[in-house]
Order: sequence, then C-alpha cells, then structure tokens
Amino acid sequence: MQKEVAFAAKKVIVVVEEPVEEAVIRSDPNRTLIPGLIVDAVSITFDNLGEAAELERGTWPKDIPLGQHYSVTRILPTILKMLDELGLSATFFVEGLNAELYPQALQGIVAAGHEVGYHAWRHEEWHKLSYADEVRILERGLPAMSKLAIRPYGFRPPRGALTASSVKLLKNLGFTYCSPAGSSSGISEGLVILPFEWPHVDAYAYLAHFGSMREKFGNSHTPLSPAHFHANLRSALGKVVQNQGYLSLLFHPFVEEKEEYFEVMYSTLEELRTLIYDGTVWSAPCREVAYWILSHPIDFETTPSFDVQHPV
Ligand SMILES: [Zn+2]
Repeated sequence: MQKEVAFAAKKVIVVVEEPVEEAVIRSDPNRTLIPGLIVDAVSITFDNLGEAAELERGTWPKDIPLGQHYSVTRILPTILKMLDELGLSATFFVEGLNAELYPQALQGIVAAGHEVGYHAWRHEEWHKLSYADEVRILERGLPAMSKLAIRPYGFRPPRGALTASSVKLLKNLGFTYCSPAGSSSGISEGLVILPFEWPHVDAYAYLAHFGSMREKFGNSHTPLSPAHFHANLRSALGKVVQNQGYLSLLFHPFVEEKEEYFEVMYSTLEELRTLIYDGTVWSAPCREVAYWILSHPIDFETTPSFDVQHPV
C-alpha cells in the first residue's frame, strides 16, 4: 500500500540520515509535531460521551435528569488521568449536544492537550441521513462547540459509514479529515481519510449487538473475552510495526467502565508507549496525522478505502 511506502521511506531516512535526531525523538514522549521523522502512525481515539446516543435512540429514561452521565463524571476523568500518566495524546469524537450538557468536560479534554472531533449532534446514524439533515447536523455542532472555543477539524460518522455527499460537505465546512470505517488512509476530494477498522473497537469486541459484525470479520458471534480483544490489539500494533501504515485505536468511555476492559486498554496503551519510546511508531491525535498527510500529498496518491453507504 502506498502509505506503507510513504511511512517506510521516512523510517529509512530516520535511521540512515538522522541518527542523532532520532535519539532526541526517542527521549520525547510527546513528539507529536515532528513530521519528517515519522515512521508509522497510531491514533488513540474515543467515541461518544454522555447520554446523547441514548436520547437519539429513545432509550434514555424520562425521569433521569440530563448532564450527570457516568461516562462523563466518572470514566472520562479516569481516561484523562491514564493518558496523562502515559504521556499520550488522543482524539475524542463527541456528539455536539455535549457542548451544551458538558461544556467543562469538553474544555477539560482540550486543556489536557487532546483533540475534540465531531461525532454528529446526538449520534444520528449517519449513512441513513438525507442531505438536508447531514447539513443541518454538521452546521449545528460547529457554533455550539465554537462557544467553548473548540473548532473540530475532524468528523467520525456514527456507525462508521458516510453518505455519498459527506466528503464534499465536510470539506466545504472546513473539516480537514474524516474517520469512517475503512481499510486505508489517504486523501479524497481534498479531505484526509483516517479510517478505523471494526476489530480495533472495544464495542465491537464486547457488546452483544455487534455479533453479526464480529462474524463478518471472522470472530465469534458471542462477545470476545478481554484477553482475546487484547490479543487482537497487540496484533494490530504488530502490523503497524511491520509498516502497515495507519492504525486508529477506538475506545468508548461508556464501555470502559468495566475494570477488566479498562485494564486491556491501559496495557495496550502501555505497549504503544513502548513502541513510541523505541522510535518504532508515531502516535498523534488524528488532526496531526491528517496535517502530516496533507503536507505530503505525493506520498498518499492512492485512493483511500472507506465505507460509504447509500440510504435505502
Ligand atoms: Zn459512535
């Protein structure tokens, strides 16, 4: 794949021409803005916050007040603490409604050095939206977040698939990148595509209703054990080390409530950090990887592969 070549080429340059600088980079865990010395890229990403998706699905109990969801009050602080301990920066794709319900939480994410991306207003199933609804939902989130001085440059579609209009629309609204489900990164109509793969998603591994999706990717219909998911993530990191290009790890705060799940996430990120220290892998929020790709278009000429569905 072309991105393998692109990233691999950088690795050769690092090793052959810049041994001193490489040593400097190894000692800096936050070396997220040093393009030109990059090998392979991993982004740590989180999707969903609060009750937005449950409101959209109509499953949020009417008698429970909004603005006190455990994923924000309890899990998010634990995740931020973990990232701080490990010296890693991540991208949080959150629904726009959270800008109204949890303004301080979103500002806290940014203040801790992470990126906030957009994940629809209330987790609307993206590929099912009409063009007018897509426009409305994208346009609603931007001013809500800009009131908090947050400008999302990236978008991840709930359920992973875009519509045929999404790429152009996102580009026109000033987004730099998009992170749908898919298998290879690159540039599409001026928009960077940084795909995630379902087997690298905690919800895919652990939640019962992802059974048919698991079968589609060769796993069991029944949820995977934490050890099994951990092995999947390890093998994904291993592939990145072998110059497989870009990897987006995807966790959900509401899923990571369970201690054994959290432990898998923590250990995986510790393993990632070791790879970073070794100078084997670059880890950065999606926005920085997108910037890297945009500034090296010649290395990313192959059309990216990602999920687009047409409404039925
Ligand atoms: Zn989601």
